[in-house]
Amino acid sequence: MSLPRQTSDDILAAITVPSSSPRATFINWGRTFSCRPLAIFEPENEEQCELVLDLAKREKRVLRAVGVGHSPSDLACTGDFMLRTTKLNRLLEVNLEKLYVVVQAGITLTDLHVELAKHGLAMRNLGSISDQTLGGIVTTASHGSGITYPVMSADVSALTLLLADGSRVRCSRDERRDLFLATLCGLGATGLILTIQLQVERAFWLKDEQCSRTFDDLIENFDEIVRSAEHVRFWWIAASHTVKCSVVNRTTEPKRPLIPWFWRSLMAFHVVQFLLFLGRYLPYLNTLTGRFVAWLASKPVTLIDDSHTIFNVECRVRACFPVLPSLFAPSIYPQHTTEFALPLALAPTCLRALGAWMDAEALNPAGLRPHFPFEIRFSGGDDIWLSPGYGRDTCWVGIAQYKPYTLPVPYRTLFAKFAAICLAHQGRPHWAKAHAPLSPEALRGMYPRYDDFVRVVKGVDGEGVWRNEYVRRQVFGEGITDGELEGGREDGKGVGLEERRFRIRDVYTE
Ligand SMILES: Cc1cc2nc3c(=O)[nH]c(=O)nc-3n(C[C@H](O)[C@H](O)[C@H](O)COP(=O)(O)OP(=O)(O)OC[C@H]3O[C@@H](n4cnc5c(N)ncnc54)[C@H](O)[C@@H]3O)c2cc1C
Repeated sequence: MSLPRQTSDDILAAITVPSSSPRATFINWGRTFSCRPLAIFEPENEEQCELVLDLAKREKRVLRAVGVGHSPSDLACTGDFMLRTTKLNRLLEVNLEKLYVVVQAGITLTDLHVELAKHGLAMRNLGSISDQTLGGIVTTASHGSGITYPVMSADVSALTLLLADGSRVRCSRDERRDLFLATLCGLGATGLILTIQLQVERAFWLKDEQCSRTFDDLIENFDEIVRSAEHVRFWWIAASHTVKCSVVNRTTEPKRPLIPWFWRSLMAFHVVQFLLFLGRYLPYLNTLTGRFVAWLASKPVTLIDDSHTIFNVECRVRACFPVLPSLFAPSIYPQHTTEFALPLALAPTCLRALGAWMDAEALNPAGLRPHFPFEIRFSGGDDIWLSPGYGRDTCWVGIAQYKPYTLPVPYRTLFAKFAAICLAHQGRPHWAKAHAPLSPEALRGMYPRYDDFVRVVKGVDGEGVWRNEYVRRQVFGEGITDGELEGGREDGKGVGLEERRFRIRDVYTE
Protein backbone atom coordinates (compact mmCIF):
# COMPACT_ATOMS: atom_id res chain seq x y z
CA MET A 1 0.00 0.00 0.00
CA SER A 2 1.44 3.37 -0.96
CA LEU A 3 0.33 6.47 0.95
CA PRO A 4 1.97 9.88 1.24
CA ARG A 5 4.40 9.74 4.17
CA GLN A 6 2.53 12.42 6.12
CA THR A 7 -0.74 10.47 5.90
CA SER A 8 0.84 7.22 6.98
CA ASP A 9 2.62 8.98 9.87
CA ASP A 10 -0.72 10.40 11.02
CA ILE A 11 -2.34 6.98 10.90
CA LEU A 12 0.58 5.43 12.79
CA ALA A 13 0.44 8.17 15.42
CA ALA A 14 -3.27 7.51 15.93
CA ILE A 15 -2.69 3.80 16.64
CA THR A 16 0.42 4.21 18.82
CA VAL A 17 0.06 3.72 22.56
CA PRO A 18 1.24 7.03 24.08
CA SER A 19 4.64 6.64 25.69
CA SER A 20 3.26 8.19 28.88
CA SER A 21 0.65 5.41 29.17
CA PRO A 22 1.36 2.51 31.55
CA ARG A 23 0.38 0.30 28.58
CA ALA A 24 3.51 1.43 26.74
CA THR A 25 5.35 -1.08 28.90
CA PHE A 26 4.51 -4.72 28.25
CA ILE A 27 4.18 -7.01 31.27
CA ASN A 28 3.01 -10.57 30.79
CA TRP A 29 0.03 -11.94 32.72
CA GLY A 30 2.16 -13.95 35.11
CA ARG A 31 4.11 -10.78 35.93
CA THR A 32 7.33 -12.64 35.21
CA PHE A 33 8.57 -10.75 32.13
CA SER A 34 8.36 -7.16 31.02
CA CYS A 35 9.80 -5.09 28.21
CA ARG A 36 9.63 -1.53 27.02
CA PRO A 37 9.27 -1.60 23.22
CA LEU A 38 10.22 1.47 21.20
CA ALA A 39 6.52 1.70 20.36
CA ILE A 40 3.38 -0.39 20.73
CA PHE A 41 0.83 -0.18 17.91
CA GLU A 42 -2.83 -1.16 18.15
CA PRO A 43 -4.11 -1.41 14.56
CA GLU A 44 -7.80 -1.80 13.82
CA ASN A 45 -7.55 -3.10 10.26
CA GLU A 46 -5.20 -4.92 7.90
CA GLU A 47 -4.08 -1.74 6.11
CA GLN A 48 -2.85 -0.31 9.40
CA CYS A 49 -0.93 -3.55 10.03
CA GLU A 50 0.78 -3.05 6.68
CA LEU A 51 1.79 0.48 7.64
CA VAL A 52 3.31 -0.74 10.90
CA LEU A 53 5.21 -3.41 9.00
CA ASP A 54 6.46 -0.80 6.50
CA LEU A 55 7.72 1.33 9.34
CA ALA A 56 9.51 -1.59 11.01
CA LYS A 57 11.24 -2.45 7.73
CA ARG A 58 12.23 1.16 7.07
CA GLU A 59 13.65 1.46 10.57
CA LYS A 60 15.22 -2.03 10.37
CA ARG A 61 13.43 -3.06 13.54
CA VAL A 62 11.85 -6.28 14.72
CA LEU A 63 8.05 -6.22 14.79
CA ARG A 64 6.48 -8.52 17.36
CA ALA A 65 2.81 -9.49 17.32
CA VAL A 66 1.27 -9.82 20.75
CA GLY A 67 -2.15 -10.99 21.86
CA VAL A 68 -3.05 -10.46 25.51
CA GLY A 69 0.39 -11.41 26.85
CA HIS A 70 -0.62 -14.60 28.64
CA SER A 71 2.54 -16.45 27.63
CA PRO A 72 4.43 -17.17 30.82
CA SER A 73 7.81 -16.76 29.06
CA ASP A 74 9.31 -13.79 27.18
CA LEU A 75 7.86 -15.22 23.96
CA ALA A 76 5.92 -12.04 23.19
CA CYS A 77 8.61 -9.58 24.33
CA THR A 78 10.73 -7.25 22.24
CA GLY A 79 12.74 -4.09 22.69
CA ASP A 80 11.76 -2.95 19.16
CA PHE A 81 8.19 -2.57 17.84
CA MET A 82 5.13 -4.41 19.13
CA LEU A 83 1.82 -4.89 17.34
CA ARG A 84 -1.05 -5.66 19.69
CA THR A 85 -3.77 -7.59 17.87
CA THR A 86 -6.68 -7.15 20.25
CA LYS A 87 -8.53 -4.62 18.07
CA LEU A 88 -8.48 -7.11 15.19
CA ASN A 89 -11.22 -9.13 16.78
CA ARG A 90 -14.20 -9.53 14.46
CA LEU A 91 -16.14 -12.59 13.41
CA LEU A 92 -16.07 -12.49 9.59
CA GLU A 93 -17.91 -15.60 8.40
CA VAL A 94 -20.02 -18.44 9.74
CA ASN A 95 -20.61 -21.60 7.72
CA LEU A 96 -23.24 -23.70 9.46
CA GLU A 97 -23.13 -26.40 6.82
CA LYS A 98 -19.40 -27.05 6.85
CA LEU A 99 -19.14 -26.05 10.52
CA TYR A 100 -16.40 -23.47 10.35
CA VAL A 101 -16.02 -19.81 11.19
CA VAL A 102 -13.54 -17.22 9.95
CA VAL A 103 -12.37 -14.74 12.58
CA GLN A 104 -9.70 -12.11 12.97
CA ALA A 105 -6.79 -13.53 14.95
CA GLY A 106 -6.95 -10.98 17.78
CA ILE A 107 -10.34 -12.16 19.05
CA THR A 108 -10.19 -13.55 22.56
CA LEU A 109 -11.65 -16.99 23.11
CA THR A 110 -14.10 -15.49 25.60
CA ASP A 111 -15.50 -13.23 22.88
CA LEU A 112 -15.41 -16.06 20.38
CA HIS A 113 -17.56 -18.25 22.65
CA VAL A 114 -20.18 -15.47 22.73
CA GLU A 115 -20.16 -15.13 18.94
CA LEU A 116 -20.31 -18.89 18.41
CA ALA A 117 -23.18 -19.30 20.89
CA LYS A 118 -25.28 -16.88 18.81
CA HIS A 119 -25.13 -19.48 16.02
CA GLY A 120 -25.46 -22.55 18.27
CA LEU A 121 -21.76 -23.40 17.83
CA ALA A 122 -18.78 -24.07 20.11
CA MET A 123 -15.07 -24.85 19.97
CA ARG A 124 -14.45 -28.57 20.11
CA ASN A 125 -11.74 -28.44 22.77
CA LEU A 126 -10.25 -25.82 25.09
CA GLY A 127 -7.54 -25.28 27.68
CA SER A 128 -7.92 -24.00 31.23
CA ILE A 129 -8.87 -20.43 30.38
CA SER A 130 -10.38 -18.40 27.54
CA ASP A 131 -8.61 -15.09 28.07
CA GLN A 132 -6.12 -15.68 25.25
CA THR A 133 -6.44 -14.52 21.67
CA LEU A 134 -7.04 -17.16 19.04
CA GLY A 135 -3.80 -16.06 17.32
CA GLY A 136 -1.87 -16.64 20.56
CA ILE A 137 -3.42 -20.09 20.94
CA VAL A 138 -2.63 -21.11 17.38
CA THR A 139 0.98 -19.92 17.23
CA THR A 140 1.89 -21.73 20.46
CA ALA A 141 -0.03 -24.98 19.86
CA SER A 142 -1.90 -24.47 23.11
CA HIS A 143 -3.74 -27.56 24.23
CA GLY A 144 -6.70 -28.73 26.26
CA SER A 145 -7.01 -32.29 27.49
CA GLY A 146 -8.29 -35.45 25.81
CA ILE A 147 -6.21 -38.20 24.28
CA THR A 148 -8.15 -38.15 21.00
CA TYR A 149 -8.00 -34.34 20.74
CA PRO A 150 -4.81 -32.84 19.29
CA VAL A 151 -3.57 -29.35 20.18
CA MET A 152 -6.03 -26.57 19.33
CA SER A 153 -4.05 -25.42 16.26
CA ALA A 154 -5.16 -28.67 14.64
CA ASP A 155 -8.71 -27.26 14.44
CA VAL A 156 -7.50 -24.54 12.07
CA SER A 157 -8.32 -25.26 8.43
CA ALA A 158 -6.90 -22.08 6.80
CA LEU A 159 -5.12 -18.83 7.64
CA THR A 160 -4.37 -15.51 6.06
CA LEU A 161 -1.02 -13.99 6.87
CA LEU A 162 0.78 -10.70 6.41
CA LEU A 163 4.24 -11.71 5.26
CA ALA A 164 7.44 -9.73 5.76
CA ASP A 165 7.41 -8.62 2.10
CA GLY A 166 4.06 -6.91 2.70
CA SER A 167 1.98 -9.46 0.82
CA ARG A 168 -1.18 -10.95 2.26
CA VAL A 169 -1.43 -14.68 1.58
CA ARG A 170 -3.76 -17.53 2.34
CA CYS A 171 -2.51 -20.95 3.39
CA SER A 172 -4.08 -24.27 4.29
CA ARG A 173 -3.35 -27.96 3.87
CA ASP A 174 -4.01 -27.48 0.13
CA GLU A 175 -2.46 -24.05 -0.51
CA ARG A 176 1.11 -23.26 0.58
CA ARG A 177 1.02 -26.30 2.84
CA ASP A 178 4.56 -25.80 4.19
CA LEU A 179 3.80 -22.26 5.27
CA PHE A 180 0.59 -23.50 6.91
CA LEU A 181 2.29 -26.27 8.89
CA ALA A 182 5.06 -23.90 9.95
CA THR A 183 2.63 -21.18 11.02
CA LEU A 184 0.48 -23.40 13.22
CA CYS A 185 2.84 -23.27 16.20
CA GLY A 186 5.04 -20.79 14.32
CA LEU A 187 5.60 -18.59 17.40
CA GLY A 188 4.80 -15.55 15.30
CA ALA A 189 7.93 -16.08 13.22
CA THR A 190 6.35 -16.66 9.82
CA GLY A 191 4.25 -13.49 9.73
CA LEU A 192 1.25 -11.80 11.26
CA ILE A 193 -1.82 -14.03 11.30
CA LEU A 194 -4.69 -11.85 10.11
CA THR A 195 -7.58 -14.32 9.93
CA ILE A 196 -8.20 -17.87 11.04
CA GLN A 197 -10.65 -20.38 9.62
CA LEU A 198 -11.57 -22.60 12.54
CA GLN A 199 -13.50 -25.86 12.51
CA VAL A 200 -16.19 -25.79 15.18
CA GLU A 201 -19.06 -27.99 16.38
CA ARG A 202 -22.71 -27.66 17.29
CA ALA A 203 -22.86 -26.36 20.86
CA PHE A 204 -22.71 -29.14 23.45
CA TRP A 205 -22.71 -29.69 27.19
CA LEU A 206 -20.14 -31.56 29.22
CA LYS A 207 -20.39 -33.59 32.38
CA ASP A 208 -17.35 -33.37 34.65
CA GLU A 209 -16.99 -36.02 37.36
CA GLN A 210 -14.18 -35.34 39.79
CA CYS A 211 -12.82 -37.69 42.41
CA SER A 212 -9.59 -38.28 44.31
CA ARG A 213 -7.26 -41.26 43.90
CA THR A 214 -3.91 -42.22 45.28
CA PHE A 215 -0.92 -41.54 43.06
CA ASP A 216 -0.02 -45.25 42.99
CA ASP A 217 -3.55 -46.22 41.92
CA LEU A 218 -3.40 -43.69 39.08
CA ILE A 219 -0.06 -44.94 37.79
CA GLU A 220 -1.08 -48.60 37.98
CA ASN A 221 -4.26 -47.95 35.95
CA PHE A 222 -2.89 -45.07 33.91
CA ASP A 223 -3.77 -46.06 30.37
CA GLU A 224 -7.25 -47.25 31.29
CA ILE A 225 -8.06 -44.01 33.17
CA VAL A 226 -6.61 -41.76 30.43
CA ARG A 227 -8.84 -43.46 27.86
CA SER A 228 -11.89 -43.72 30.12
CA ALA A 229 -13.49 -40.49 28.86
CA GLU A 230 -13.23 -37.86 26.13
CA HIS A 231 -11.39 -35.37 28.33
CA VAL A 232 -9.36 -36.51 31.30
CA ARG A 233 -7.05 -34.40 33.43
CA PHE A 234 -5.33 -34.76 36.78
CA TRP A 235 -3.98 -32.49 39.49
CA TRP A 236 -1.35 -34.34 41.49
CA ILE A 237 -0.40 -33.11 44.95
CA ALA A 238 2.92 -34.80 45.61
CA ALA A 239 2.91 -33.83 49.30
CA SER A 240 -0.15 -36.01 49.95
CA HIS A 241 0.43 -38.64 47.23
CA THR A 242 -3.08 -37.93 45.98
CA VAL A 243 -4.47 -37.01 42.58
CA LYS A 244 -7.64 -35.11 41.82
CA CYS A 245 -9.07 -36.69 38.64
CA SER A 246 -11.47 -34.94 36.31
CA VAL A 247 -13.28 -37.19 33.82
CA VAL A 248 -15.36 -35.31 31.26
CA ASN A 249 -17.84 -36.54 28.65
CA ARG A 250 -20.53 -35.01 26.47
CA THR A 251 -24.01 -35.22 27.90
CA THR A 252 -27.63 -34.27 27.34
CA GLU A 253 -28.45 -34.49 31.04
CA PRO A 254 -29.78 -31.30 32.67
CA LYS A 255 -27.21 -28.71 33.71
CA ARG A 256 -25.80 -29.15 37.18
CA PRO A 257 -23.64 -26.17 38.07
CA LEU A 258 -22.50 -26.08 41.67
CA ILE A 259 -24.31 -23.77 44.05
CA PRO A 260 -22.30 -20.59 44.57
CA TRP A 261 -20.59 -20.70 47.90
CA PHE A 262 -19.06 -17.29 48.08
CA TRP A 263 -17.81 -17.40 51.61
CA ARG A 264 -15.95 -20.68 51.32
CA SER A 265 -14.50 -19.78 47.97
CA LEU A 266 -13.35 -16.42 49.20
CA MET A 267 -11.93 -17.91 52.36
CA ALA A 268 -10.00 -20.59 50.53
CA PHE A 269 -8.56 -18.12 48.06
CA HIS A 270 -7.32 -15.79 50.77
CA VAL A 271 -6.30 -18.44 53.28
CA VAL A 272 -4.25 -20.31 50.69
CA GLN A 273 -2.69 -17.11 49.40
CA PHE A 274 -1.69 -16.18 52.95
CA LEU A 275 -0.24 -19.64 53.56
CA LEU A 276 1.73 -19.36 50.31
CA PHE A 277 2.97 -15.98 51.49
CA LEU A 278 4.17 -17.52 54.78
CA GLY A 279 5.74 -20.31 52.73
CA ARG A 280 8.16 -17.76 51.29
CA TYR A 281 9.78 -17.59 54.73
CA LEU A 282 8.93 -21.05 56.10
CA PRO A 283 9.17 -23.33 53.05
CA TYR A 284 8.07 -26.46 54.92
CA LEU A 285 4.65 -24.80 55.23
CA ASN A 286 4.17 -25.37 51.50
CA THR A 287 4.00 -29.11 52.18
CA LEU A 288 1.30 -28.60 54.81
CA THR A 289 -0.58 -26.21 52.52
CA GLY A 290 -0.47 -28.84 49.77
CA ARG A 291 -1.97 -31.41 52.14
CA PHE A 292 -4.61 -28.90 53.26
CA VAL A 293 -5.61 -28.26 49.65
CA ALA A 294 -5.68 -32.01 48.92
CA TRP A 295 -8.02 -32.45 51.89
CA LEU A 296 -10.28 -29.62 50.69
CA ALA A 297 -10.41 -31.18 47.25
CA SER A 298 -11.05 -34.75 48.35
CA LYS A 299 -14.87 -34.59 48.04
CA PRO A 300 -16.28 -35.97 44.75
CA VAL A 301 -17.91 -33.33 42.57
CA THR A 302 -20.14 -33.56 39.47
CA LEU A 303 -20.77 -30.61 37.17
CA ILE A 304 -22.79 -30.32 33.96
CA ASP A 305 -22.64 -27.13 31.93
CA ASP A 306 -21.84 -25.50 28.60
CA SER A 307 -18.66 -26.96 27.13
CA HIS A 308 -16.46 -23.90 27.65
CA THR A 309 -17.55 -23.54 31.28
CA ILE A 310 -16.46 -27.09 31.99
CA PHE A 311 -13.25 -26.94 29.92
CA ASN A 312 -12.16 -23.67 31.54
CA VAL A 313 -11.24 -24.28 35.14
CA GLU A 314 -11.05 -20.57 35.76
CA CYS A 315 -14.65 -19.92 34.68
CA ARG A 316 -15.72 -21.51 37.88
CA VAL A 317 -13.55 -19.16 39.88
CA ARG A 318 -15.02 -16.18 38.14
CA ALA A 319 -18.51 -17.47 38.76
CA CYS A 320 -17.56 -17.88 42.43
CA PHE A 321 -18.22 -21.57 42.33
CA PRO A 322 -16.99 -23.57 45.27
CA VAL A 323 -13.49 -23.79 46.41
CA LEU A 324 -12.64 -27.24 45.16
CA PRO A 325 -12.21 -26.59 41.47
CA SER A 326 -11.06 -23.04 42.05
CA LEU A 327 -8.03 -24.14 44.00
CA PHE A 328 -6.90 -25.93 40.88
CA ALA A 329 -7.41 -22.98 38.59
CA PRO A 330 -4.03 -22.30 37.05
CA SER A 331 -4.58 -18.61 37.12
CA ILE A 332 -5.70 -17.77 40.60
CA TYR A 333 -2.41 -16.13 41.47
CA PRO A 334 0.27 -14.69 39.18
CA GLN A 335 2.82 -17.40 38.75
CA HIS A 336 5.90 -18.87 37.18
CA THR A 337 4.97 -21.89 35.18
CA THR A 338 6.58 -24.49 32.97
CA GLU A 339 5.21 -27.52 31.16
CA PHE A 340 6.56 -30.45 29.16
CA ALA A 341 4.94 -32.73 26.58
CA LEU A 342 5.90 -36.35 27.19
CA PRO A 343 5.24 -39.26 24.86
CA LEU A 344 2.21 -40.98 26.40
CA ALA A 345 3.99 -44.32 26.54
CA LEU A 346 6.74 -42.90 28.78
CA ALA A 347 4.43 -40.84 31.00
CA PRO A 348 3.95 -43.37 33.84
CA THR A 349 7.72 -43.91 34.09
CA CYS A 350 8.38 -40.19 34.06
CA LEU A 351 5.67 -39.52 36.66
CA ARG A 352 7.18 -42.17 38.91
CA ALA A 353 10.59 -40.51 38.52
CA LEU A 354 9.02 -37.15 39.40
CA GLY A 355 7.33 -38.77 42.41
CA ALA A 356 10.63 -40.28 43.61
CA TRP A 357 12.28 -36.87 43.22
CA MET A 358 9.52 -35.16 45.24
CA ASP A 359 9.78 -37.81 48.00
CA ALA A 360 13.56 -37.33 48.14
CA GLU A 361 13.15 -33.56 48.43
CA ALA A 362 10.59 -34.05 51.23
CA LEU A 363 13.00 -36.28 53.18
CA ASN A 364 15.82 -33.77 52.84
CA PRO A 365 15.51 -31.06 55.53
CA ALA A 366 17.05 -28.58 53.07
CA GLY A 367 15.07 -29.97 50.10
CA LEU A 368 12.69 -28.09 47.84
CA ARG A 369 9.17 -27.46 49.10
CA PRO A 370 7.30 -26.59 45.91
CA HIS A 371 3.78 -25.31 45.49
CA PHE A 372 1.14 -27.62 44.11
CA PRO A 373 -0.20 -29.30 42.09
CA PHE A 374 1.41 -30.95 39.08
CA GLU A 375 -1.16 -30.53 36.31
CA ILE A 376 -1.37 -33.56 34.00
CA ARG A 377 -3.25 -33.42 30.70
CA PHE A 378 -3.37 -35.22 27.36
CA SER A 379 -3.54 -34.60 23.64
CA GLY A 380 -3.57 -36.74 20.51
CA GLY A 381 -0.66 -36.67 18.07
CA ASP A 382 -0.57 -34.06 15.29
CA ASP A 383 1.48 -33.18 12.19
CA ILE A 384 2.31 -29.55 13.05
CA TRP A 385 6.04 -29.12 12.64
CA LEU A 386 6.96 -27.44 15.93
CA SER A 387 4.03 -28.68 17.97
CA PRO A 388 5.21 -30.48 21.12
CA GLY A 389 2.55 -33.05 20.23
CA TYR A 390 4.10 -33.71 16.81
CA GLY A 391 3.80 -37.36 15.81
CA ARG A 392 2.85 -38.82 19.17
CA ASP A 393 0.07 -39.10 21.70
CA THR A 394 1.10 -36.79 24.49
CA CYS A 395 0.91 -36.42 28.23
CA TRP A 396 1.49 -32.83 29.35
CA VAL A 397 2.93 -32.25 32.81
CA GLY A 398 3.06 -28.73 34.18
CA ILE A 399 4.11 -27.09 37.43
CA ALA A 400 3.65 -23.58 38.78
CA GLN A 401 5.09 -21.50 41.57
CA TYR A 402 2.48 -19.00 42.65
CA LYS A 403 3.41 -15.46 43.52
CA PRO A 404 1.26 -14.62 46.56
CA TYR A 405 0.38 -10.92 46.50
CA THR A 406 2.55 -10.92 43.31
CA LEU A 407 5.68 -11.25 45.47
CA PRO A 408 8.76 -13.14 44.23
CA VAL A 409 9.12 -16.83 45.05
CA PRO A 410 11.99 -19.20 44.24
CA TYR A 411 11.43 -21.38 41.18
CA ARG A 412 14.64 -21.78 39.18
CA THR A 413 16.14 -24.83 40.87
CA LEU A 414 12.74 -26.49 40.96
CA PHE A 415 12.09 -25.84 37.27
CA ALA A 416 15.60 -26.96 36.31
CA LYS A 417 15.27 -30.30 38.12
CA PHE A 418 11.79 -30.80 36.74
CA ALA A 419 13.01 -30.06 33.20
CA ALA A 420 15.95 -32.46 33.56
CA ILE A 421 13.61 -35.35 34.44
CA CYS A 422 11.16 -34.50 31.64
CA LEU A 423 13.94 -34.12 29.07
CA ALA A 424 15.33 -37.49 30.12
CA HIS A 425 11.91 -38.95 29.20
CA GLN A 426 11.80 -37.34 25.74
CA GLY A 427 9.85 -34.33 26.97
CA ARG A 428 9.38 -31.35 24.69
CA PRO A 429 8.87 -27.97 26.39
CA HIS A 430 5.68 -25.96 25.91
CA TRP A 431 6.93 -23.06 23.79
CA ALA A 432 4.90 -20.42 25.61
CA LYS A 433 6.10 -21.44 29.07
CA ALA A 434 9.43 -20.83 30.77
CA HIS A 435 12.17 -23.24 29.79
CA ALA A 436 15.90 -23.15 29.22
CA PRO A 437 17.00 -22.65 25.61
CA LEU A 438 17.74 -25.80 23.65
CA SER A 439 20.37 -25.86 20.95
CA PRO A 440 19.33 -26.28 17.30
CA GLU A 441 20.90 -29.77 17.49
CA ALA A 442 18.68 -30.67 20.43
CA LEU A 443 15.63 -29.23 18.67
CA ARG A 444 16.49 -31.12 15.50
CA GLY A 445 16.51 -34.33 17.56
CA MET A 446 13.18 -33.46 19.15
CA TYR A 447 11.36 -32.17 16.08
CA PRO A 448 11.85 -34.14 12.85
CA ARG A 449 10.64 -31.12 10.80
CA TYR A 450 12.80 -28.52 12.61
CA ASP A 451 14.96 -27.88 9.52
CA ASP A 452 11.85 -27.45 7.39
CA PHE A 453 10.56 -24.90 9.85
CA VAL A 454 13.80 -22.90 9.70
CA ARG A 455 13.79 -23.12 5.88
CA VAL A 456 10.23 -21.78 5.64
CA VAL A 457 10.85 -18.97 8.14
CA LYS A 458 14.00 -17.86 6.34
CA GLY A 459 12.21 -18.16 3.00
CA VAL A 460 9.35 -15.84 3.94
CA ASP A 461 11.33 -13.53 6.22
CA GLY A 462 14.96 -13.36 5.19
CA GLU A 463 15.65 -10.21 7.21
CA GLY A 464 13.98 -11.50 10.38
CA VAL A 465 11.40 -8.73 10.78
CA TRP A 466 9.05 -11.07 12.66
CA ARG A 467 11.85 -12.85 14.55
CA ASN A 468 12.02 -11.45 18.07
CA GLU A 469 14.63 -12.09 20.71
CA TYR A 470 12.88 -15.21 22.03
CA VAL A 471 12.68 -16.82 18.59
CA ARG A 472 16.29 -15.99 17.82
CA ARG A 473 17.43 -17.47 21.11
CA GLN A 474 15.03 -20.38 21.66
CA VAL A 475 14.48 -21.55 18.10
CA PHE A 476 17.50 -20.36 16.11
CA GLY A 477 20.04 -20.79 18.93
CA GLU A 478 21.44 -17.28 18.48
CA GLY A 479 23.32 -15.47 21.21
CA ILE A 480 23.78 -18.39 23.53
CA THR A 481 26.82 -20.52 24.17
CA ASP A 482 26.89 -24.27 24.79
CA GLY A 483 27.94 -23.59 28.37
CA GLU A 484 24.88 -21.47 28.97
CA LEU A 485 22.65 -24.11 27.45
CA GLU A 486 23.95 -26.90 29.64
CA GLY A 487 24.25 -24.70 32.72
CA GLY A 488 20.66 -23.61 32.27
CA ARG A 489 19.42 -27.14 32.57
CA GLU A 490 21.65 -28.50 35.29
CA ASP A 491 21.95 -25.83 37.92
CA GLY A 492 18.90 -23.72 37.33
CA LYS A 493 20.70 -20.68 35.98
CA GLY A 494 18.96 -19.46 32.90
CA VAL A 495 15.86 -21.57 33.42
CA GLY A 496 14.08 -18.43 34.56
CA LEU A 497 15.17 -16.93 31.27
CA GLU A 498 16.45 -13.81 32.89
CA GLU A 499 17.32 -11.99 29.70
CA ARG A 500 20.11 -9.47 29.74
CA ARG A 501 21.06 -9.17 26.12
CA PHE A 502 17.84 -7.89 24.64
CA ARG A 503 16.54 -5.30 27.06
CA ILE A 504 13.89 -7.69 28.23
CA ARG A 505 13.57 -7.77 31.95
CA ASP A 506 12.61 -10.80 33.98
CA VAL A 507 10.73 -8.97 36.71
CA TYR A 508 11.56 -11.75 39.13
CA THR A 509 14.49 -11.31 41.46
CA GLU A 510 15.34 -14.33 43.55
C1 LIG B 1 -3.53 -18.60 33.21
C2 LIG B 1 -3.02 -19.27 31.97
C3 LIG B 1 -3.61 -20.46 31.55
C4 LIG B 1 -3.13 -21.09 30.41
N1 LIG B 1 -3.69 -22.28 30.05
C5 LIG B 1 -3.17 -22.97 29.02
C6 LIG B 1 -3.69 -24.24 28.65
O1 LIG B 1 -4.66 -24.73 29.24
N2 LIG B 1 -3.08 -24.91 27.63
C7 LIG B 1 -2.00 -24.39 26.97
O2 LIG B 1 -1.45 -25.06 26.09
N3 LIG B 1 -1.52 -23.17 27.26
C8 LIG B 1 -2.07 -22.46 28.26
N4 LIG B 1 -1.57 -21.22 28.56
C9 LIG B 1 -0.59 -20.60 27.64
C10 LIG B 1 -1.34 -19.73 26.61
O3 LIG B 1 -2.36 -20.43 25.97
C11 LIG B 1 -0.36 -19.24 25.53
O4 LIG B 1 0.70 -18.58 26.13
C12 LIG B 1 -1.04 -18.31 24.51
O5 LIG B 1 -0.10 -18.03 23.50
C13 LIG B 1 -1.47 -17.00 25.11
O6 LIG B 1 -2.21 -16.25 24.16
P1 LIG B 1 -2.02 -14.68 24.06
O7 LIG B 1 -3.12 -14.12 23.27
O8 LIG B 1 -1.82 -14.12 25.43
O9 LIG B 1 -0.66 -14.60 23.26
P2 LIG B 1 0.67 -13.79 23.62
O10 LIG B 1 1.24 -14.35 24.87
O11 LIG B 1 0.37 -12.36 23.60
O12 LIG B 1 1.57 -14.19 22.39
C14 LIG B 1 1.99 -15.53 22.26
C15 LIG B 1 2.64 -15.77 20.93
O13 LIG B 1 1.68 -15.67 19.90
C16 LIG B 1 2.15 -14.80 18.88
N5 LIG B 1 0.99 -14.18 18.27
C17 LIG B 1 -0.11 -13.70 18.89
N6 LIG B 1 -0.99 -13.26 17.98
C18 LIG B 1 -0.42 -13.44 16.76
C19 LIG B 1 -0.83 -13.18 15.43
N7 LIG B 1 -2.01 -12.63 15.14
N8 LIG B 1 0.01 -13.50 14.44
C20 LIG B 1 1.21 -14.05 14.68
N9 LIG B 1 1.64 -14.33 15.92
C21 LIG B 1 0.83 -14.03 16.94
C22 LIG B 1 3.07 -13.84 19.58
O14 LIG B 1 3.99 -13.28 18.70
C23 LIG B 1 3.73 -14.78 20.57
O15 LIG B 1 4.73 -15.48 19.92
C24 LIG B 1 -2.04 -20.53 29.66
C25 LIG B 1 -1.47 -19.32 30.09
C26 LIG B 1 -1.96 -18.71 31.22
C27 LIG B 1 -1.32 -17.43 31.69
